[in-house]
Amino acid sequence: MKKIFSFIVIATLVVACTTNPMTGRKSFQGLADNSQLMTASFQQYQQVKQESKIITGTPEAEMIKRVGNRIKTVAEAYYKSIGQEAVLNGFEWEFILIDDSKTVNAWCMPGGKVAFFTGILPICKDETGIATVMGHEVAHALAGHGAERMSQSAGAQLLGDVIGGSISNSNTKSLFEQFYPMGASLTILSYSRKQELDADLMGLYLMAMAGYNPEKAPELWERMKAQEGNDQRPPDFLSTHPNPDTRILDMQKNMAKARQYYNQSIYRTK
Ligand SMILES: [Zn+2]
Repeated sequence: MKKIFSFIVIATLVVACTTNPMTGRKSFQGLADNSQLMTASFQQYQQVKQESKIITGTPEAEMIKRVGNRIKTVAEAYYKSIGQEAVLNGFEWEFILIDDSKTVNAWCMPGGKVAFFTGILPICKDETGIATVMGHEVAHALAGHGAERMSQSAGAQLLGDVIGGSISNSNTKSLFEQFYPMGASLTILSYSRKQELDADLMGLYLMAMAGYNPEKAPELWERMKAQEGNDQRPPDFLSTHPNPDTRILDMQKNMAKARQYYNQSIYRTK
């Protein structure tokens, strides 16, 4: 019996392998139930909104929305162009600015729920800086990095069950709560180095497609680094996004492709 179960698990692992079409990175995220994941994400986002002071109608809040909508538009067009629009099924995009100058952070939860905190705006500096952060965070959600982390955790649990002789369904909600803790400042899990590299590249391409100059992206990471030197406490964003120097080098290596996307951007040619 155990052999059959092991075979099923291995077959599932093979079938559920996902490839990021922009970067070519392969990942396994088949054990996370996407609709359950998004339901949990949307509930958590509502909670954050209730607990936070949301800024609306200011130039900064409008800028967050504009950048977010441009990146959403190009992401939808890209996935449609390669016949993978289903990746975005169930997404309910929202882009909010939270009044909290002490929190140097921004995140995107599964299903396209984005928040920027006012504390990150001085480091973003301008719309292109916001696009650098937005592209990166949205890339985590589009590439399913949260689902991948949860699948790894669920996979370990499932394999344990196989070895133990019983298979039980993993509880997406409790897994979700481990990865996306409650609270307004909501520190989203640290992704792995490989996931970060993936989000950096995909984010670079997304911002370029949305008509923001990708050559400016490394400058955001330079400013983040400088901020770390100034404060006693490093920016929240840097605690989950370390090693700016390595990131900059990786981005530079892929700048030629990003530049192509930038030159062809509908926001530049129309
Ligand atoms: Zn990241």
